[in-house]
Formats: sequence, C-alpha cells, structure tokens
Amino acid sequence: MNQSYWQKTTRKRTEKVLNKDITTDIVIIGGGLAGVSLAYQLKDSPYRIIVLEKDAMGSHTTGHTTAKLTTLHGLLYQKITKNYDIHQAYLYYRSNDKALKEIQNIIKRESISCDYQENSSYIYTDDPQYVKDIEEQKKILESLRVEVVEDNQHLASIGLKNQAIFHPLKYLFALIQSCQKSGVLFFEYSQVTHIERKNKLFTLSVNHHKVKCQYLIHATRYPFIKKGIYFMKLFQQREYVDYKETQKGKDSYLCIDQTCSYRPLMNDDLLMIDRDAKDWYAQDSIPLRGIPYIGRIHQYQQEFIIYGFQKWGMTLSQVAARLIADLILERDNPYEELYSCHYFSIASAKQYTQKIINNVTRGYWSQRFHTRSIQSLDVKEGAIVKVDGHLTAVYKDGQEKLHYFSPYCPHLKCLVHFDKKSQTWVCPCHQSVYDAYGQLIEGPSIFSLHKRKN
Ligand SMILES: Cc1cc2nc3c(=O)[nH]c(=O)nc-3n(C[C@H](O)[C@H](O)[C@H](O)COP(=O)(O)OP(=O)(O)OC[C@H]3O[C@@H](n4cnc5c(N)ncnc54)[C@H](O)[C@@H]3O)c2cc1C
Repeated sequence: MNQSYWQKTTRKRTEKVLNKDITTDIVIIGGGLAGVSLAYQLKDSPYRIIVLEKDAMGSHTTGHTTAKLTTLHGLLYQKITKNYDIHQAYLYYRSNDKALKEIQNIIKRESISCDYQENSSYIYTDDPQYVKDIEEQKKILESLRVEVVEDNQHLASIGLKNQAIFHPLKYLFALIQSCQKSGVLFFEYSQVTHIERKNKLFTLSVNHHKVKCQYLIHATRYPFIKKGIYFMKLFQQREYVDYKETQKGKDSYLCIDQTCSYRPLMNDDLLMIDRDAKDWYAQDSIPLRGIPYIGRIHQYQQEFIIYGFQKWGMTLSQVAARLIADLILERDNPYEELYSCHYFSIASAKQYTQKIINNVTRGYWSQRFHTRSIQSLDVKEGAIVKVDGHLTAVYKDGQEKLHYFSPYCPHLKCLVHFDKKSQTWVCPCHQSVYDAYGQLIEGPSIFSLHKRKN
C-alpha cells in the first residue's frame, strides 16, 4: 500500500514497541528525518533520549519524498524577500547551505552508503508568463552572492551547482544505528495520544503506558496537539510521485509553473512529480507565514516544535536538528529568530486565504449537499451517503462488500471525502488521511473513523 521506491529498496529496520512506563530526559515525537536528525545531533549530550514513532521509522513523508538535497527551494527566496526582506532570505539561504554541508560531513564521517551523488539542481519554466519570476529570483540570489548557472534547454532556468541527491531511508536508518550506539532508544508503533504538562515535567500517554520527560520535541511534520493552534497556521499539501524508466541526465529539475519535478536515481531511471503521477503519494505541511516553525512553543518552556518544511525538508531537517539541539544545550544559533514560532506574516498568509476558506467551507458545509446513493457506488469507491437520515461514509470494496463509518473526522468534526486514486478518505479542513476502511494514516487526527453498523 503506497509503497515508495525507497521502501522497496531498503531492508526494513524493526524497533521495539513501547510496552512499559519510562522516565527519561528528552522525548522526540516523530521518527521521520526531522526527529531522527535531532536525535543524532543530541546523541552525545549528557541527556537520555527516546524517539517515539506512531508507525514504522521513516514510513511517512520521509519515506515518500524525492530527496533532492538542495538549497534551491523553488521560488522561496523571491517570496521571502517580498513578504519579509532580503536579510531574512539571506539567513534562510545560509542556514540551508550550512545544513547541506553538515549532511555531507555526516555521510563522510559515518561512512554512510546512501546513494549520495552530487549534481546541479534547477528550477525552470517554458511559459513566458513565469520568466520574470525566474529572473527576479536570479537577481536575489546574485545579490546574496550565490553563484547561479543556467541551462539552455528551457525558456528560463536557474540552477545551483554542488547540490546532491541521496536515498533518504538508507541515510535515516544509518543515523538511527549510530544513535543507538550512543544509547538513544527508538520505539515504533508507539503513538503519543495525550500530553500532560505539570511542574516543568511532561507525561505522555503511549500504548497505555506513561512516558515522563523534561524536554519534549514535536517532530511530527504537522501538529496533532491543539496547543498554539498551529493546525490553523499550516495546511498539508499532497503530491504524487512516479518511478520512470527514462533517462534525463544527472541533474534535478523543478518546473515552477506546473509542478513537474524530476530527479535521477543511481540506476539512471528517475522519479517524477506531476499531476498524472500515481505510484505513491505523500503530504508535507505548508506554513501560512512562508517560513517553517522551528523553536519553542512558548518562551521559557522546554517544549519545541518542528513544522512546515513546505516540501524542502531534506536540508531543513538538519537546520531544525541543529537549531533545537542548540536551544536545549543553551548554545547560540544565528537562525533562532528567523525560524522562531513567535511571529506571523499576514502578507505571506494572504496568498492562501482563499484556499483555506474553500477547505473549511467544504469540510463543514458544502459536502453535506453532495451525498450519493449506495446504488451509484462503483467497486473500490467511497462516498457520503444518507443512511436512515444520517450522513454516513460508505466504501464498496473489491468484493462489493459495503463498509460503513462516521463521516466526521475525529480531529474537529469536518466531513471527510473519498479520493479514488489513493483509495483514502481525506479531511478537507486539516488533511487527516484514513484508508478505505477508515484506519488512520495521517494526522492531525489521532483516531480512526468510527465504524458504523449498516
Ligand atoms: C512528494 C514530495 C516530494 C518531496 N521532495 C523533496 C525534495 O526533493 N527535497 C526536499 O528537501 N524535500 C522534499 N520533500 C519534503 C520532505 O520530504 C519533508 O519535508 C520531510 O520528509 C518531512 O520530514 P518530517 O520528519 O518532518 O516528517 P515525516 O517523515 O512525516 O515524519 C513525521 C513522523 O511523525 C510521526 N507522528 C505523527 N504523529 C505522531 C504521534 N502522535 N506519535 C508518534 N509519532 C507521530 C509520523 O508517523 C511520521 O513518521 C518532499 C515532500 C513531498 C510530499
């Protein structure tokens, strides 16, 4: 189900499931690249550390990414300069450039075989109306003294040399192994469902056990907690990826006008993101303010968040790992202010206002009026149906058996809808995802859809 190329080409690791009460110093929630990179950054500190993952390590967005290691993050430099200023764009570039070099050093130091290969990374367009965006971004990068190259295959393009590609799961699993040698504990299928905060101590509920700690980090990509209402300051966006037996050279390309992005693989085939792709899908969280939230939830508290990589989490995971480790170990970090969670940008959020309004309207209102009849359902299709006057989510499986659920997302009671391509129920409001049988795949919800009798 939704298996990526990375998952098919790595030997799966198996970690323990948490089955007892534990007291420790630091808990990291989330076993994706952000959480594991942070554990690696802290592994030699005096603190005892555990990582809790609700499914398998790296099985969510990190296991379904395209894994370009680059500081050329689409048109972000142009957007940050427009909504903030050139200095913030400079800090953003510096932090990611440093992270890229740190990842290269880790791979060397730990001798990690992760199909690492240097290449150039490009953004491009063949549509005249987007040429000015490329030109603007070029000017900004040049003013930051970043060396920019062009290719001659497209109407407009810019690229950066000395970028890279790698195998994210081989890298992730090697980090886990190195952390374990230093005593870090990893638990899989160990979902955090509740957090109690008392006297500077956190008590987490996990698999009917209690985990106590002094420092707590949320590396869950998108919040399952309501504290700080970050679920209203972010949304999740889905992309589909295809494996293609096609050769297009050694470099990585992102088209800025139609989300057609591709990167080569070690065997010279490639991964492609475009609208018609269907091999696998993944979601990443987009911060309305345009810059990820990496830092303390509240000043002076020992609780930290890492959210909003907006599809650039390979280098940003390392930025976050370094920054949160510095905050915990009370070291200065030049990027603390840039990523701090204590500001918002209305200017940046404006570009998403209509989208958010549409999502919420769909979830709380318009879906109610788009009910179907059970007879109209095809096999392997789901829809909202009225059963005895009650809205009900119904799925017809391959054997034409009907499965009935509550259509209300347990997170905030929006009405889910069925996505036939991925065979999932999706909440339009905050993008929780459930499989066709109502089992939770992606949060913010922490519960599955409630089963109903027919
Ligand atoms: C299609 C696609 C292509 C991309 N390509 C690139 C690229 O080329 N380059 C790039 O830089 N970035 C890319 N990205 C972005 C990048 O992959 C992500 O930003 C990054 O993988 C996110 O890592 P993460 O650790 O934050 O999230 P995840 O890998 O999703 O990890 C979060 C983990 O938290 C766990 N979790 C959640 N709630 C709980 C809970 N209550 N208890 C315990 N565990 C919990 C989840 O199960 C999950 O495993 C891409 C993203 C997508 C969607």
